[in-house]
Amino acid sequence: MKDFREAPFAWLNGRFVKWKDAGVHSASHSFLYGTGVFEGIACYLAPKGPALFRLGDHIDRLRESARVMKMKVPYTKAEVEKACIDVVRKNRLDECYLRVVLGYGYGKIGLAPTGLKTDLTIMVWRQGNYLGKMAQEKGIKVMTSGIRRVFGTEELAAAKITGSYYTSALAKMEALGKGFDEALMLDAKGFVAECAVENIFMVRGAKNGVPELITPLTASALPGITRASIMEIARNEGIEVWERLFRPEELCSAEEVFVTGTSAQVTPVVSIDGSTIGNGTPGIVTKRLQKTFFDTAHGKGKKYAKWLVYV
Ligand code: PMP
Repeated sequence: MKDFREAPFAWLNGRFVKWKDAGVHSASHSFLYGTGVFEGIACYLAPKGPALFRLGDHIDRLRESARVMKMKVPYTKAEVEKACIDVVRKNRLDECYLRVVLGYGYGKIGLAPTGLKTDLTIMVWRQGNYLGKMAQEKGIKVMTSGIRRVFGTEELAAAKITGSYYTSALAKMEALGKGFDEALMLDAKGFVAECAVENIFMVRGAKNGVPELITPLTASALPGITRASIMEIARNEGIEVWERLFRPEELCSAEEVFVTGTSAQVTPVVSIDGSTIGNGTPGIVTKRLQKTFFDTAHGKGKKYAKWLVYV
């Protein structure tokens, strides 16, 4: 079963290889211990051609994750950005998803990866709607997972380290197994953190004409690039944005809820644990932000043109 279409070529340690050859050794430290760092980046088709969304910000976050993992990156930021663009070009793709992975390689066995060389792989594929065909229009059903999103430090919550994703993977499997689309995860104290691979927002006050957008703090959630984009768009549209702690009960009583992420873009949430959000359809504020986001990603309008890097 495959819900994506891989591209003919990947990029591995400075050169193009066939997709099937884009492997690193099974004794690689990152395979053994989950110590790789990664980014997912979206490429959208705009009138001027394919464009990578906030490429520079993704590569900055990759380098920051590498710093947290004490990993030396053997490429400059510009070199990694160029490699991302080259992979899309080489495969002649327009709309696609890139996965950039930096991993401690193979060389010695033992827990401390000090001195090991790093492997950089860039893969690209075409992907359907990550949360389901109708997710953007109709919204998704979310369940609260018993698996908590817990990190040792705030710095670790902000890093995209491969090994941290085992909890997300378990929560996602649980949600799918029970007929939901996505899992909501709480932090150690029971406050809302984020979904398996998306940030979460709620809308309050829209009924009174003064909408407010509220999202959890990044102490327990990834500082998502889509999250930051939506916060900027919302503020520019006169919507107040707050980052604060809140419990799942408050989320469930919100007028609107939506999730954001590179794969999910802006996806409305219409129910949580079987209880309906608002009237069970995507809300007005959500739809407005979703439209601005998609217009921006597809190169319509000048306001956020700075976020696109053309291939
Ligand atoms: N939270 C988690 C745990 C994620 O893996 C992702 C996907 N990178 C997000 C949130 C959304 O972040 P972004 O908008 O940068 O893709």
